[in-house]
Amino acid sequence: MKKYFFNVIIILIMLTNAILSQDTTFCGTVASSPDYLITNNIQLMKISNQPIAINVFIHKVAMDNGSYAITTTEVNNAMNILNSDYADFDISFILVGKDQINNTAFFNSPNANLFNVNPHSDAIDIYLIPEESTFNGGLAEDVISTAFFVAGKFNKSPYNELISTSVISHEMGHCLGLHHTHRGWRDGEEEDGTACVRN
Ligand SMILES: [Zn+2]
Repeated sequence: MKKYFFNVIIILIMLTNAILSQDTTFCGTVASSPDYLITNNIQLMKISNQPIAINVFIHKVAMDNGSYAITTTEVNNAMNILNSDYADFDISFILVGKDQINNTAFFNSPNANLFNVNPHSDAIDIYLIPEESTFNGGLAEDVISTAFFVAGKFNKSPYNELISTSVISHEMGHCLGLHHTHRGWRDGEEEDGTACVRN
């Protein structure tokens, strides 16, 4: 994980250069409205080594009847994981709100359309789906984006529930500009042991 976070810093610096040279387009990709990150100059702030506080909004995705929504304790645990994993880099996360989305289709088959449900312009939207989901993995909206989801559990023993692991921090890394070291698409386990369905 240390190598991963070292890469975060390197890529943030590279992205800073991209911001300066390419205006609102990053890495040859049409920007997917990362307005919050741009307007708050988060990449530019990081190069100056100043502490950064990033707003997050957590969406608890449940079944149509409301069952399996994660608890407040699990929400707080997710926040603790994020803040712990990024503490060495003076990046902290502030929970500015949460809601519950009752949608069995998204619960069992989350996809990028989930990012259209109650998104926020002042925070990174985090959609959390517990181990009862039939989908296992995580997805960030883009590399540099303001939304991601984590769902289900590891596909190996002890089958840890992903929302209780640093997979959350892995997907947040994508939002902040981190590519996979292999720079590709992989449906399975990452070098750091986390699962992710795309870069
Ligand atoms: Zn990933």
